[in-house]
Order: sequence, then structure tokens, then C-alpha cells
Amino acid sequence: MNNSKRCPYAKKCSGCQLQNLTYEEQLKMKQVKLIKLLGRFCHVDEILGMGQPEHYRNKLQAAFAHKDGRLFTGIYQSSRQAVTEVDHCMLEDIRSQKIVKSVESICRELKIKAYDIRRKSGVMRHIMVRCGASSGEIMVVLVTASYELPHKEKFVDMLIKAHPEITTVVHNVNDTDTPLFLTSKSRVLYGEGYISDSLCSLSFKISPRSFYQVNHVQTEKLYSLATELACLTGRERVIDAYCGTGTISLCMAKKAGQVLGVELSSDAVRDARDNAKINGIKNAKFFCADAGEFMTDMAEKGEKADVVITDPPRAGCSRAFLQSLVKLSPARVVYISCNPETLARDLSYLTRNGYRVKRIQPVDMFPYTSHVESLVCLTKQTN
Ligand code: SAH
Repeated sequence: MNNSKRCPYAKKCSGCQLQNLTYEEQLKMKQVKLIKLLGRFCHVDEILGMGQPEHYRNKLQAAFAHKDGRLFTGIYQSSRQAVTEVDHCMLEDIRSQKIVKSVESICRELKIKAYDIRRKSGVMRHIMVRCGASSGEIMVVLVTASYELPHKEKFVDMLIKAHPEITTVVHNVNDTDTPLFLTSKSRVLYGEGYISDSLCSLSFKISPRSFYQVNHVQTEKLYSLATELACLTGRERVIDAYCGTGTISLCMAKKAGQVLGVELSSDAVRDARDNAKINGIKNAKFFCADAGEFMTDMAEKGEKADVVITDPPRAGCSRAFLQSLVKLSPARVVYISCNPETLARDLSYLTRNGYRVKRIQPVDMFPYTSHVESLVCLTKQTN
């Protein structure tokens, strides 16, 4: 089957870079790319794809704009600094798309205007909807340019009436020049201000600004594999670097002696600590720090770690991080990467400094897009 032209917004949105390919062709293309970039380190196992590769995104973000006085929502295109109206998307959760449409009509009914970045007038900037894939809990974050959300009680009332499945509504104020961005200025309008979701049989609290993997089905595969590759026996000291809300740390804590998670976002660290409590896990500690500085500090103090898990953003690990990792000298490193280019760079450093790549397992976390996630297991060479 040829999927070309299946999305009418393809050209303007450019979110689904691979949509002119069938899913099988997409997987093949990602496999070939990884073999090219990483094949020199180790055999690349066959990429784990999805049975149903659509509507997997549990997080939706849409921008508000207006045309001829009519408010609409859509995708913000940074290249044009403009919003393209979008009615449906094949990646996003269908429930969240319906909620955005309702928010649009509520704004129109209450005569609330979209924010105009050029004129610096209007109210609504963007909306984020997060669905707990397994809990069914739903968070709506309404982002405005100023502190006032007009008719906020009525707004929330109308929204919950239309969508009783929504469990929390948060108002966030973004008075900066950066679009699609949540600031620390938040206030809860309805519910708890966060959602919970379960992942690998554990329960996680997710705040508006905390990172949470967008593809639930594939994340469970990724985390189970990462835990398997860590080869834990119940005694190990594990460092989970770039730990977010502690999802990987807590999945591994049951099988390890102790887990130390490090993460830069204070909101995510707060969630991670709460998540440890919620799940009754006592052998996981979380630190709010730059991962590189944390590792350097550990190495300088002569601390040891048996296993290091690292799951950095697209830029990969810093040189300071890698140098300290080598000093800490863990027997195993499990590297989760969303960018094969920086992964290749970091593997090159680690293999020149005493580590051997044992396994490379790609997992397709982002079907229809060109993003490629890989899981790599390295062991310390003993000879
Ligand atoms: N392992 C987690 C999060 C991975 S995303 C999960 O699977 O959910 C990467 C995380 O790295 C984000 O939470 C981000 O806030 C964090 N981060 C970015 N730069 C960092 C740095 N320099 N030091 C520590 N954490 C950082």
C-alpha cells in the first residue's frame, strides 16, 4: 500500500517526514540508517516496530491563531512564524484531538481571542493535552499570554461538561517571546494539576512540564529491554542519568541494590521522588543536577557504580559526562538514544576508552517520523 497524500497537512506540517512510505518501508529505512551509522560497533538487531503505528502520541500541542477574526488551532511553523490550521492528525491520540476542537469552540463562544505575537494582543497562545494511555486520565494545559484567562470558571465548566474524561485542567502563563513553551507560572483550574499513568506495572505522576515518553506501547518494550540488558541481580548500584520522572530508575529499582537518578528539571525530580513514594520504592534517590556535573562529582569522590543507564536529549552526552563515566568504571552501560548521530560519536569515545558494544537494539518510538531510537548495551573490557 502506498500511503502518499494520506495527510492533507503533510507539506506544511512536515511532522511525518516518512509518510509517503509504507510502515514496512519506514522500518527498513531506519534499519539501513542505523547499520550505516552504528554497524561498525556491533551487529544491529532488527528494529522493533508497532502493530498499530498510528495515534500513538499521548501528548498533543497546538497553537492558537486567527484569520479574518475567526480563532483556530493548528501547528506552529517556526520557519514561517505562522500557524497552519489542522483538523486531525494521524499520530495524536484521538481523544486529545476532540478536546482541542472543543476548546476552539469554547473560545469562540466566549469570544476569547488568540494571541497575536506580532501585535502582542489577544489571549490564547497554545494548548497541551496529555493522555495517560493506560490510566485514561487526561490533562489539559491552557497557555495564555497574560495572567488573565477570561471567564475561566465558565470555560472549565463547559470543557468538563463536553469531556468528563478530563481529569485536570491547568492554566499556564507564557509571557515570553518563545512559542509552544510552558513557563513555571501555572495554576490549577480543575483536578490535581497532574495525571497518573502506569508503565511496566508501576504508577507514575506526570506534571505539565515533566518529560514523559510519548509512545506508551513502545516505551514498555524499551524499558523492559533496558532492564534486561542491565543484567541486575539485586545487589548493583545503578545510576540513571537524564532520568526524567524516574520511570527507568523505578523500573530497575526492584531488581537492583540502589538506584541514583539524576535530572536537570526540578519539576521532573519532584515527580520522580513522589513516584518512588507512590510505588513504595525505598532504594531510589533522585538528584537535581546537570548529569555531567553529577558524574564528575561522583568520580572525584571515588564513588563506584555497577551499571550506568544514560538517556540523554538529542545532543547526546557531554564530554565531561563520558570522561567521568569511564572513571566510575561501571561493568555495564545501557545507552538509550534518540539521535543515532550523537550516539555514534559517544560510542566512539566509549569504545576507545575501555568499553565494548555488546548489543544494539532499535525500537521504533516515532512511526511516520524520521526519528530513530536505539538501545545499546556496552560492557567494560576486562583484558
Ligand atoms: N529517561 C527519561 C527521560 C529521558 S528525556 C524517560 O525515559 O522518561 C531526557 C531528560 O534529560 C529530560 O527529562 C531532560 O529534562 C533531561 N536533561 C536535559 N539536559 C540535562 C542535563 N544536562 N542533565 C541532566 N538532565 C538533563
